Amino acid sequence: MNTSVSHIEDDANVLGRTTSSGNITLSKDIPENHIKSVIKHELGHVDDVKSGALAWDDNNFYWKGKKYNKAEWQGRKDAPWEKDANKEAGTNYGR
Ligand SMILES: [Zn+2]
Repeated sequence: MNTSVSHIEDDANVLGRTTSSGNITLSKDIPENHIKSVIKHELGHVDDVKSGALAWDDNNFYWKGKKYNKAEWQGRKDAPWEKDANKEAGTNYGR
């Protein structure tokens, strides 16, 4: 399955996201020098979404079979899926 990358309008503090279908969105305002590392980081999430290790719905994240409340864990660098993507990509993002 291919992964698409598209630029979108997004919250001011969000540079990139992985969608639940395993595609990547980048903020249209992303600084040029962040593009490469954000894509690398998000590709870590894409792998985990496609393998089934990472999923989410309106209320929760699901990481390797464990449930994490979204209100509590959204945007945290210490979330296990962020640690995983940051380790793979050499980045330090919380999204
Ligand atoms: Zn992330």
